[in-house]
Amino acid sequence: MTVPEVKVTRVLDTLHVLEVPIPFPMKTVTVTVDTAFPVTLIDTGIHTPEARAGLEAGLAQLGLTFGDVQRVIVTHHHPDHYGMAGVLEEAGAEIFVLDIEAGYGLTYWQGWDDWLPRLLAQMHANGLPPEMHDAQDRFHRFVRGMVVPARRWSTLSEGDTVELAGRVWQVLWLPGHADGHLALWQPGERLLLAADAILPRITPNIGLYAYSRPDPLKDYFNTLGRLAALAPGRAVVGHHGPVMEDVVERTAQLQAHHAERLDFLREAATETPGSAWKLSRVMFPRPLNEANLRFALAETLAHLEHLSLRGQLQKAEQDGVFIYSG
Ligand SMILES: [Zn+2]
Repeated sequence: MTVPEVKVTRVLDTLHVLEVPIPFPMKTVTVTVDTAFPVTLIDTGIHTPEARAGLEAGLAQLGLTFGDVQRVIVTHHHPDHYGMAGVLEEAGAEIFVLDIEAGYGLTYWQGWDDWLPRLLAQMHANGLPPEMHDAQDRFHRFVRGMVVPARRWSTLSEGDTVELAGRVWQVLWLPGHADGHLALWQPGERLLLAADAILPRITPNIGLYAYSRPDPLKDYFNTLGRLAALAPGRAVVGHHGPVMEDVVERTAQLQAHHAERLDFLREAATETPGSAWKLSRVMFPRPLNEANLRFALAETLAHLEHLSLRGQLQKAEQDGVFIYSG
């Protein structure tokens, strides 16, 4: 393995961002580093040899090692953001997550042996064909292999403040992509550390999982409204950044994108009632790998549940599978 090159960009005084490699199509995840006391990381990268070497190399460019990191603030539990939390904890850092994420996403890693069968059962109840069980089981085990969960963590809440780069930042709860997605807002600089709450080029996946809050899409519409009202001048984003500027314009695009998908699914389910799985194959008809089949199902389900909870579609169980109809 050659040590990957990691781009380091200074964002504000002692605040820098590293673009650390991940084995996903986005290619990198953003890890933000405050080199001032207490040395802080926002997100960790995933636990693969390349990502670990990349994070070490990026920190070395800032004159730091894992042992120097005192505090890690994790924006959400997804493996590319949280995967190395346990490694940094072991090296001496205190891990922070939003209180809501501790009650949702983090429980997935803590109770993984229980969650895996529940997760697969939820997928079958939404139409995953039985013959695809083993491939999904393998895929989830593969992802689990890239996460070292923290043993202990401290929680932050919406409205708390933290200090970074000599300034006071507000802790924000921006759910949708993950139930307890955290962001940090510095009003004077109009700078948001947004992670995956908003992204350029790709839409943050809004999925409903066995452990999710009931209506992640409604949560996300609220988040988009909040981001538009906040109107950041700059946002440090989790992928395809590291910095984006046209945040308000992007919130409008994402709003329209999800409204379009809702229209599409309402019509599709009215024409031909079906499970979330079946409708996901209508919405995403291309051949997909295991990861994308899983995301397509969770994304379709989030939209169908949003419609069903608003009374715009009916949901009924038929032979152990939920069917959505107009
Ligand atoms: Zn991400």
